[in-house]
Amino acid sequence: MIQINNVSKWYGEFQVLTDCTTEVKKGEVVVVCGPSGSGKSTLIKTVNALEPFQKGEILVEGVSVGDPKTNLPKLRSRVGMVFQHFELFPHLSITDNLIIAQMKVLGRGRDEAMDKGLKLLDRVGLKAHAHKFPGQLSGGQQQRVAIARALAMDPIVMLFDEPTSALDPEMVNEVLDVMVELAQEGMTMMCVTHEMGFARKVASRVIFMDRGQIVEDCSKDDFFGHLDARSERARQFLSKIL
Ligand code: ADP
Ligand code: MG
Repeated sequence: MIQINNVSKWYGEFQVLTDCTTEVKKGEVVVVCGPSGSGKSTLIKTVNALEPFQKGEILVEGVSVGDPKTNLPKLRSRVGMVFQHFELFPHLSITDNLIIAQMKVLGRGRDEAMDKGLKLLDRVGLKAHAHKFPGQLSGGQQQRVAIARALAMDPIVMLFDEPTSALDPEMVNEVLDVMVELAQEGMTMMCVTHEMGFARKVASRVIFMDRGQIVEDCSKDDFFGHLDARSERARQFLSKIL
């Protein structure tokens, strides 16, 4: 579904990604972790072309993200993204947040978009809040709306960038529960997160990044079960968060 081949990226002189290679197969849940500043957000944003890169190649279902001929709006409509800070449109109601891209990007009619949006809102347990505005919801609720909004576009893959790290602790699980359910339903997911409980429960693979490099890329069982075989940097990181 996603192939990342030898991707490097610089911000001016500063190399933020160095020769990153990995893949996400259909139905896989790949968890990306690593210290702050290691390039996790940058890597995940290159997948839907929110960040350009200078070397290497990224393919999403065979479509080259870096190719100037690629239709980026179409590509992005197939790759759902959920950010740390929800990024709902604050001036639009929850319903309007859920339908606007379906109408503008996919050309769905209002009724169809509304039907889809409300079904997904129900699925994340928030149907009763449809008429409200984002500011009237808690952080955890807003993040669940953001997930529903991304799902409304029928994505082939979902990218998450630390979706729970801006939330108060008591709201983390309501968002993780939605993500676990999605994973168990077979959604292909690439998730930057430090929630190792989530990783243990649903990850197919775990990637550990440090200083712009993919240092570890292994099965969940190898990652958590064979710490002795992990790199020094990964072990240090895990010892701080586990
Ligand atoms: P992470 O998500 O792992 O914390 P990021 O991908 O956000 O890491 O950032 C990786 C590195 O790139 C950091 O050192 C950060 O300061 C730097 N960086 C991020 N965005 C920019 C930018 N727009 N310009 C310059 N440097 C940046
Ligand atoms: Mg980040």
